[in-house]
Amino acid sequence: VLKTDSVKMFFFPFVGGGHQIPMIDAARVFASHGAKSTILATPSNALHFQNSITRDQQTGLPVAIHTFSADIPDTDMSAVGPFIDSSALLEPLRQLLLRHPPDCIVVDMFHRWAPDIVDELGIARIVFTGHGCFPRCVTENIINHVTLENLSSDLEPFVVPNLPHHIEMTRSQVPIFLRSPSPFPDRMRQLEEKSFGIVTNSFYDLEPDYADYLKKGTKAWIIGPVSLCNRTAEDKTERGKTPTIDEQKCLNWLNSKKPNSVLYVSFGSLARLPSEQLKEIAYGLEASEQSFIWVVRNIHNNPSENKENGSGNFLPEGFEQRMKEKDKGLVLRGWAPQLLILEHVAIKGFMTHCGWNSTLESVCAGVPMITWPLSAEQFSNEKLITDVLKIGVQVGSREWWSWNSEWKDLVGREKVESAVRKLMVESEEAEEMTTRAKEIADKARRAVEKGGTSYADAEALIQELIARRLARQD
Ligand code: UDP
Repeated sequence: VLKTDSVKMFFFPFVGGGHQIPMIDAARVFASHGAKSTILATPSNALHFQNSITRDQQTGLPVAIHTFSADIPDTDMSAVGPFIDSSALLEPLRQLLLRHPPDCIVVDMFHRWAPDIVDELGIARIVFTGHGCFPRCVTENIINHVTLENLSSDLEPFVVPNLPHHIEMTRSQVPIFLRSPSPFPDRMRQLEEKSFGIVTNSFYDLEPDYADYLKKGTKAWIIGPVSLCNRTAEDKTERGKTPTIDEQKCLNWLNSKKPNSVLYVSFGSLARLPSEQLKEIAYGLEASEQSFIWVVRNIHNNPSENKENGSGNFLPEGFEQRMKEKDKGLVLRGWAPQLLILEHVAIKGFMTHCGWNSTLESVCAGVPMITWPLSAEQFSNEKLITDVLKIGVQVGSREWWSWNSEWKDLVGREKVESAVRKLMVESEEAEEMTTRAKEIADKARRAVEKGGTSYADAEALIQELIARRLARQD
């Protein structure tokens, strides 16, 4: 009989914040269950999480980084889209797997080429999905039961069939690959069908109906929220990427605020909003008279100028100065220590683009949201937050933001102000959302503790890998 600590798991994340960060946390979660976890990375990318892994190793956690000899540029995903060509790593990966075959390799769903070699070598391949169960259920029901071409316009609402909740969407809110012919869904399905199973960063009690749906059709282990493996302030600060924003400055500012009084505004690692939109946000925030901490990223026509630390002024004339004088708002440019901010007692709400990690992190912190989806499965996440969990207020964004095309659907300052007031100004409705958010946060914590569903799923996967190895030895 093999012991848990004999199980070797490789993790091959996709380069880029929202995909990479949770997979590194997942590697650490499995290590905390005793598996020997190794994260595969390019040399330049490894720099982003080297320190946190070193800290883990110092506490005896069996987690390591394997860096390839080949490198690919540590690309700014916003400039190139998610499908960067990383095939230079193909041969180094094959060699590594031949020399040190692991029990499994967990590969991000976006990897185009890695799955083929893993399957060729007969190694158990596990797909890391990067999002929750709900959007999958929504997408599959749209594919199978809705004829999007029959809708009269992009903005005509339709009810997503076969769901236990009443969920309305429009064509402009569904993923682009559903709106025009695309090989993407088929390719994804094939990759999953040939895999050992899928690992999802969610927890059962967050979306039980949808978790059941996922598990009915697929072998899946739901092991999150993985961000909860970050327990120390250092880990929460330097998570996946080294913050370029002075965390002490954020915390000092937040410390000076009353509990439950500040709105945190951030749109994730990729989205850069155009100046016109940033201005509407600024005016809306100012008119709401609420305190806020806002991570600003702006889009230029030239993607190479999309530097995180861009210090250009895209905000209304005098806005920052006024906010400073009134001590109402802190504007940040750079990579923020999001977990620390969300967990601060001064934070009452989060205006978010509904990226899955941000959504889960807000849930774990017990912070209700103002939902402002921009692309991908974020519109589905919005419905989960507002219509299913009822812990959010929609700002009213209606259409996909796209990498390079013109911004079509500005959200005006009145909508921003109104959503902010709805969440931040005391009212029965706001109070109820906060109470519900805190209850769900408790469930999240219980899920990853011994006896919790996510804890059990992580153990179950390790046991299945042991069984697989034993079966192959026979
Ligand atoms: N993040 C952060 N600081 C930032 C921006 C993002 O720590 O300034 C982290 C955030 O905590 C989350 C991830 O980056 O873990 C963003 O993932 P999400 O799925 O929310 O959105 P994406 O960036 O993929 O659009």
